[in-house]
Amino acid sequence: MTREILIWPEPLLKKISRPVARVDDSIRRLLDDMSETMYAADGVGLAAPQIGELHRCIVIDTSPRQEGQKLIHLVNPEIVRTEGATTYTEGCLSVPGEAEDVDRAAKVWVRALDYHGKPFELEGDGLLAIAVQHEFDHLQGTLFVDHISSLKRELIRRRMKKLKAERQSDSESPDEIRKAPSHRSAL
Ligand SMILES: [Zn+2]
Repeated sequence: MTREILIWPEPLLKKISRPVARVDDSIRRLLDDMSETMYAADGVGLAAPQIGELHRCIVIDTSPRQEGQKLIHLVNPEIVRTEGATTYTEGCLSVPGEAEDVDRAAKVWVRALDYHGKPFELEGDGLLAIAVQHEFDHLQGTLFVDHISSLKRELIRRRMKKLKAERQSDSESPDEIRKAPSHRSAL
């Protein structure tokens, strides 16, 4: 089921998500809703708090922009190692239409549980490494706007408040509401 993506600023997006005690059917349902929502929004990553669920769950699929990739589920992810540095122009499904340069590690190693609750390790570079760090931030209540200057952040905050007001008053065309422009690799 496609779920509504929360738009920043929104108090819930600033909260720290709870670890998942057990990967059961309800968590798998959540993961399914997350990937469906991510694909519907044309994003390459989504974290559970973005749909209002404070569980440590992430879905990533960078295959539209990165060769050899597929849908990845990460439950209770831990970034165990990072290497190098890179700057990437990031977008976020919770900050539609905006994109800013963010400094990140170039390569990451992650430990997590998969869709079936089995532990696994993932090594990522390129967009996948960016996506892992961006989505992990969401679980900590951090957004890419927290990595940029306060001046830029306040300008974006103003545009998001305007966008939210427009969406609220535009209740007659709900289909249009979902069509806010998004960055080519919104996360
Ligand atoms: Zn995001």
